[in-house]
Amino acid sequence: MLKGKNALVTGASRGIGRSIALELAKQGANVAVNYAGSEDKAKAVVEEIKAMGSNAFIVQADVADEASVKSMIKEVVSNFGSLDILVNNAGITRDNLLMRMKEEEFDQVINTNLKGVFVCTKAVTRQMMKQRAGKIVNVASIVGVSGNPGQANYVAAKAGVIGLTKTTAKELASRNIHVNAVAPGFISTDMTDALTDEQQKEMLAMIPLNKLGEPEDVAKVVRFLASDDANYITGQTIHIDGGMVM
Ligand code: NAD
Repeated sequence: MLKGKNALVTGASRGIGRSIALELAKQGANVAVNYAGSEDKAKAVVEEIKAMGSNAFIVQADVADEASVKSMIKEVVSNFGSLDILVNNAGITRDNLLMRMKEEEFDQVINTNLKGVFVCTKAVTRQMMKQRAGKIVNVASIVGVSGNPGQANYVAAKAGVIGLTKTTAKELASRNIHVNAVAPGFISTDMTDALTDEQQKEMLAMIPLNKLGEPEDVAKVVRFLASDDANYITGQTIHIDGGMVM
C-alpha cells in the first residue's frame, strides 16, 4: 500500500505515534521517527521498523521550534530523497480547570499541539510542492469537537488543528497535497493510563462501543489517509472514538 513512500511521524517514540510509524512501515513505507524525549525508545521503534524490511532512522526535534524542525526536514529529505507523508502526532496535556490553569500551561500545550502542526506543515510544504504530491495527516482529538472540562488549553489547540487542517487542505489542494485529520476519542496509552479508575469508568459510560480504542485503531486510519486509496479525500477530520461524539 505504501511501498517506496517516505514518511515522517512526529512524537513517534511511544503511544499512538509509535503505532502509526509501525503501521506505515508494515505497508512498506520508510519512516523517520521524530522524538523529543527518550532516544532509547525512538531507537527501539527504528529497530522494529528495520526488522520489517523498511528503512528508518531517528530524528530529534521539538516540533514547536522552527529552526529544529527545518533542520529535521532537511535531514529527512537528504536521507530518503523525498518526503511523501507527514504525520503531525506529537502532543502533550497540562490539564487544569480554567480558573486554576496557569498561563504557562496554556502556552505549552498551544505551542506543542497547535503551533507544532503549523511549523511542521509549513516546513514540509516546499518539498511537497516540488514533488507535486504529499499527504499530511494531523492527529487532533474528539475533544476539539466536543469540548472537555479541565482541558481549555488542549481543546483550544485541537480545535485549532481541525481548522488548520481545513485551511491548509484548501491552500495546498492545487499542488496535489492532501491534508486530513483524525480525531481519536479515548485511546489506551500513557496519556489515558494516567486517569483514575473512576475517570476511566465515567469514560466508558460515554462510549457506545463500550471500550477504549487501541493505538492501532488510530494507526490504521492514518495509514489509509496517507495512501493513494484516499486520493479524493482532503480537509476531513475522521472521528475514531467508538461512536462517542456523533
Ligand atoms: P503520548 O504521551 O504517549 O505520546 C506523545 C508523544 O509526543 C511522545 O512520544 C512525546 O515525546 C512526543 N512529544 C511531546 N512533545 C513533543 C515535542 N515538543 N516535540 C516532539 N515530540 C513531542 O501520547 P499519545 O496518547 O500517544 O498521543 C499522541 C497524539 O494523539 C497526541 O497528539 C494526542 O493529543 C493525541 N490524542 C491522544 C488520545 C488518547 O486517548 N491517548 C486521544 C486523542 C488524541
